Amino acid sequence: MQKIQNYINGELVAPVGGQYMDNIDPSRGKVYSLIPDSDEKDVEIAIKAAKAAFPSWSVTPKDVRAAYIMKIADLIDANLERLAKAESLDNGKPLHLSKTVDIPRAAANFRFYGTGIMHYSAQSHSMEDSAVNYTLRQPVGVAGCISPWNLPLYLFSWKIAPALAAGCTVVAKPSEVTPMTAYLLSELCIEAGLPKGVLNIVHGLGHKVGSAIVSHKDVPVISFTGGTKTGADIARVAAPMFKKMSLELGGKNPNIIFADCDYDKMLSTTMLSSFANQGQICLCGSRIFVERPIYEKFKNDFVEKTKKLVVGEPFGEKTKIGAVVSKPHQEKVLSYVELAKEEGGKVLCGGHKIVLEGEFENGYYIAPTIIEGLTYDCRTNQEEIFGPVVTIMPFDTEEEVLMYANSTIYGLASTVWTENLTRAHRVAQNLHTGIVWVNCWLLRDLRTPFGGVKSSGVGREGGFEAIEFFTEPKNVCIKLK
Ligand code: NDP
Repeated sequence: MQKIQNYINGELVAPVGGQYMDNIDPSRGKVYSLIPDSDEKDVEIAIKAAKAAFPSWSVTPKDVRAAYIMKIADLIDANLERLAKAESLDNGKPLHLSKTVDIPRAAANFRFYGTGIMHYSAQSHSMEDSAVNYTLRQPVGVAGCISPWNLPLYLFSWKIAPALAAGCTVVAKPSEVTPMTAYLLSELCIEAGLPKGVLNIVHGLGHKVGSAIVSHKDVPVISFTGGTKTGADIARVAAPMFKKMSLELGGKNPNIIFADCDYDKMLSTTMLSSFANQGQICLCGSRIFVERPIYEKFKNDFVEKTKKLVVGEPFGEKTKIGAVVSKPHQEKVLSYVELAKEEGGKVLCGGHKIVLEGEFENGYYIAPTIIEGLTYDCRTNQEEIFGPVVTIMPFDTEEEVLMYANSTIYGLASTVWTENLTRAHRVAQNLHTGIVWVNCWLLRDLRTPFGGVKSSGVGREGGFEAIEFFTEPKNVCIKLK
């Protein structure tokens, strides 16, 4: 059975303690590889390597850093098929999604920051003829990058690429649930000739490897994407150490549909924003609010389309919905369906496990689920489910739907469907989220700030925001007379 290795100081190495954990293929519910069960000793060695590499990498000219990063992007492109298959096997997502979204976007992340660093310029402030100030942007040091399982390589690279471009060295931990493409990335970094110690990838559990990175005195900057509770745990450790932190956390995103929307466009996009990646995208719109005049029509059409979605193994040609990532996650999602019923919700479709035939009979599949009849403030409508489960609810006025939309502790993203331009601007302004999509969903320009408000996180990724996060501004004031 394949054994994944850590990538430390430019080499693929076994964990110091020699312990491994099972890595499960969620489409079959079967162990298919082993992953290092690393601990603080591995993290210590990785941080030492990253610290030793920092003085040289931080002053390596930008164009040279960019060339390494672009080489990694090219290698990801060249290995698209292999990486996409590995991602789908590890995560359970349909292969077409890995092939068209996850892997190409991982390459795009490296390319974006490889080129971006070449165009980044810091500020200068002139005090007329008495003095001039300029801002040096210096890399912070060893960056700790910790990512979740839902978009494994994509979110991993979204942190690593800007950190490396900015001149930081990195100790990274992918989710232990989906480690494979991070491992394959380490092979590609070796092939790209990335200097040793610049990027280190330590596999293992969050409470061992993740917390050892977060609490280490030689890691002054932490970029984390994951659940809100984990984010709070990390902040509790990192804040008293005055570390820089970017926390991209959970969401409970509203999808607001006004009666004057472009109905067909709205319906086809809502299918995606509800169920893409089995609903396991932090940006999915899991609370759907529909203006009353079109509520019944929407409900009937949405349910009919959803019933037709093919749930299947990730490599099936007709598959639209693959497996959810793990058995505990499947159980968690289904427990929310039970909760919804207790709270008075009516399950319009789905709401149960799907058992496939043959070798996939033990995989973790859930029928896409639509629930109606719940109040905006019940637990089902307030807590993150992170699966193929959405609720639908009618509304009568703009004020009312804004109140519903803004009622959760989260504030990551929202979607608004209307052909009324004035209303679109007004509603966008009044939504308490870091991202608002109007008449679209998941349309991403990598230059834009990405992140949430309230319990959805602190800080922004994307564009030059990420370069600024991984660098420290230093003002130099020079008197002219
Ligand atoms: P978790 O918070 O459970 O885990 C995220 C990562 O943190 C994993 O690598 C995990 O390791 C690690 N970790 C766990 N505990 C600690 C700790 N104490 N110290 C340091 N690291 C730790 O999230 P999930 O993997 O379950 O991902 C799903 C969540 O991610 C959802 O809430 C989703 O909304 C959010 N998310 C947010 C996004 C955003 O941009 N805002 C984007 C995508 C997802 P291990 O795997 O071993 O537990």
